[in-house]
Amino acid sequence: MKEVLERALNVQDRDLCDHCLGRLFAHVGTGTTNGERGKEVRALIDQDRASRGLGPMQHERCWLCDEVFEQVPRFAEAVDLKLQEVQFDNFLIGTRVDPVLQAREEELWSLVGQEHAEPIKSELNREIGKAVFALNGKEVEFKNPQVVALVDTRFAHVELDVAPLFVYGRYRKLSREIPQTKWPCRVCQGKGCQRCGNTGKMYQTSVQEQIGDVILPYAKGKEHFFHGMGREDIDALMLGTGRPFVLEISSPVIRTLDLDALQGEINERGKGLVEVGHLRSSTREEVRQIKDAAPDKEYRVQVSIHGKVNKGKVDEVLRTFNRTRIVQRTPVRVSHRRADLKRERYIVYVVLEDIQDERMTLRLRTESGTYVKEFVHGDEGRTEPNLSEMLGVPCTVDSLDVIGIIDSSEV
Ligand SMILES: [Zn+2]
Ligand SMILES: [Zn+2]
Repeated sequence: MKEVLERALNVQDRDLCDHCLGRLFAHVGTGTTNGERGKEVRALIDQDRASRGLGPMQHERCWLCDEVFEQVPRFAEAVDLKLQEVQFDNFLIGTRVDPVLQAREEELWSLVGQEHAEPIKSELNREIGKAVFALNGKEVEFKNPQVVALVDTRFAHVELDVAPLFVYGRYRKLSREIPQTKWPCRVCQGKGCQRCGNTGKMYQTSVQEQIGDVILPYAKGKEHFFHGMGREDIDALMLGTGRPFVLEISSPVIRTLDLDALQGEINERGKGLVEVGHLRSSTREEVRQIKDAAPDKEYRVQVSIHGKVNKGKVDEVLRTFNRTRIVQRTPVRVSHRRADLKRERYIVYVVLEDIQDERMTLRLRTESGTYVKEFVHGDEGRTEPNLSEMLGVPCTVDSLDVIGIIDSSEV
């Protein structure tokens, strides 16, 4: 305490409240508030002053904070009122403090040293948080608060920063006409023009809109964002147990949704287009996992055969592809937007489901990122080996459907 006193004597001529005095030594000792610590430091200073025949430290109005801590109950009431606009289980307080106060605080740090001091914002956040908790009984959450109440201490003005809501599910896409995500019109960038019939969109709807447009009004959010575990081509169906996704709703007013009812509504409205299942609440962490996942995929492909080939030959060729690697150069059809690279991909298996004269149906499982159409037609030799080449007759893809995402998340 001797060191504390020596340093504290450097500010004995300033008019400081107990909070601001105690906060200079916030990291000395534990278990007390800055206010209590301030009282103790003041007593030490006054003792020392008395021994020198001086009167006690003067305190009328705090030079540093202008008695801002007296306003904590008022801030807490403003926060409590504002928080009633949204649904939440936990919260966190943030404060905007007058830069003049912070400058004064730094001036004191230059006199007593900064190593034991706590910034005024931290104490305000904590004290307002405690006072709000006393009013609403909700937990303060530091890591992932559902809502941050930002208090501007100059005007007791409160703004809310509401954390997004995340909903996990798996979708099936039953139409070859719609994309996975909302796609702004290329001509007008979404403003609306002749090309898009003033919709601002390239497509009338999407998997994202079929799901998000139903959930958004219930959550009373601002916008929805779609995070899929990969995507299929527009003209591909997504069948089987569906593709995992997380829908993100920004600034939701409502956080408790009846997901079973929403699932029913999405599926009713989406008949013939989109179905969802397994809806449950999710997290930002799961969004990251879903974006990083690279699961194997299972496909069903309808192939046109442009020449003569018999079933025996097809079976023989397909067997050679089991558990093999192929090398794919970036396909011609995506080369305008992707770098021209050579990549190795693993074919787990290819099986023949059906064959007629000029058509066959294949089922195959491949590593994530395999260009299946190119595997079939060869892409002018950019995929090696490829099915057309091995069969000795040109093959083209009539339709391609994803029938399984082999991921480890729950089905
Ligand atoms: Zn003060
Ligand atoms: Zn347009």
